[in-house]
Amino acid sequence: MDLCDLSVIRTLLEEHGLRMQKSLGQNFLIDPEVPRRIADSVGEADEVLEIGPGIGCLTAELCRAHPRVTAVELDAGLIPVLAKTLAEFDNVRVIHGDILKTDLPSLFSPGSRVAVCANLPYYITTPILMELIASPVPFVSLTVMVQAEVAARFTAPPGGRDYGAVTVALGAYGTVKKLFSVSAGHFYPAPKVDSAVVQIVPRETPLLAEKERPVFRSVVRAAFEKRRKTLANALASLPHGRSKEELGAILSSLGFPADVRGERLSPEDYASLARALFPQ
Ligand code: SAM
Repeated sequence: MDLCDLSVIRTLLEEHGLRMQKSLGQNFLIDPEVPRRIADSVGEADEVLEIGPGIGCLTAELCRAHPRVTAVELDAGLIPVLAKTLAEFDNVRVIHGDILKTDLPSLFSPGSRVAVCANLPYYITTPILMELIASPVPFVSLTVMVQAEVAARFTAPPGGRDYGAVTVALGAYGTVKKLFSVSAGHFYPAPKVDSAVVQIVPRETPLLAEKERPVFRSVVRAAFEKRRKTLANALASLPHGRSKEELGAILSSLGFPADVRGERLSPEDYASLARALFPQ
């Protein structure tokens, strides 16, 4: 069964009395080359976690390329469809649930190398990625399809308009690379914008200790909430007890002018700044 064939998709949905649900970000891939390429990009893993399998076109490719696949799908109507479309594979389990409410560590054995792979629902791309990078599961890689402009934000270098709190959070977690673009015509229904596949590979040595993360997050959030202000002014709202002059001196000690703006600091700079402001 070609799960990227539009008439197959329509027939499967019709047989199960389903319609595409825009509110769940349902844009299914209709070019078999794309799921194949995504599955091949994942790299070595014992298990792959897929978020939002839809009718299973990427899931099937993941099952062919990897030893074990766990797919979490929110739409209850798609569960019996997946039972049919993935019937030939004995290395997959499909879980009905919301990925944001799923206890991820309970899904995998300790020591197992788990990769994430997904054509993400666009309405919650960032919350899902924030949840994944905060998870105690030591993922080996995250390979995800996102909207092209979101990919540009994820991979932006410091200094530009696209660089923001999410870029810093992902950069603190690992290296973020755009793998390839996918135009809107490769989806049904076609979204208004193009997409891109990005891959995030966690740092071998984490930039932040567990206990440093909450402070790091609040410093980054404060810096970008008021990004038109200087960083020293934006940070004035945090309970660090420093005067603006003291903040300026800390920034100078990190090699920045006292009136630097938040978008110029790298994730490493933010880690140093958070440590200087809130020594633990
Ligand atoms: N993987 C399929 C493909 O590539 O054609 C479908 C991708 S579609 C962009 C996103 C999928 O995520 C849909 O099947 C949708 O029902 C599912 N989804 C949406 N919100 C979800 C959530 N919170 N948890 C798990 N799955 C979700």
